[in-house]
Amino acid sequence: MKNTCELCAEALVGDGEAWICSYECTYCTGCHRALDVCPNCGGELVARPRRTTGAAAIAARTPARIARRLSRRRGW
Ligand SMILES: [Zn+2]
Ligand SMILES: [Zn+2]
Repeated sequence: MKNTCELCAEALVGDGEAWICSYECTYCTGCHRALDVCPNCGGELVARPRRTTGAAAIAARTPARIARRLSRRRGW
C-alpha cells in the first residue's frame, strides 16, 4: 500500500480514506474531489479498502495457525 498521495504527497494512513486506480496510483480525498479518473493512466478511481489489521494482529494469529498445522501432520 502506498502511504502518500501521488499528486500532493500528503501522508495517507492505512486505516484512513484514500482512492486508487487499478495500477494502485493512490490519491487523497482532497485530490480525488478534483479528479474524475486517474491522471496517470486515465483509469477509474475507487475507494481503497482500509487496512485495519497491523503487524501485531497478524503475529498474534500466527502461533495458532502453526500449531494446527503441526498437530495435523503428527496425526493428533
Ligand atoms: Zn492529494
Ligand atoms: Zn492510474
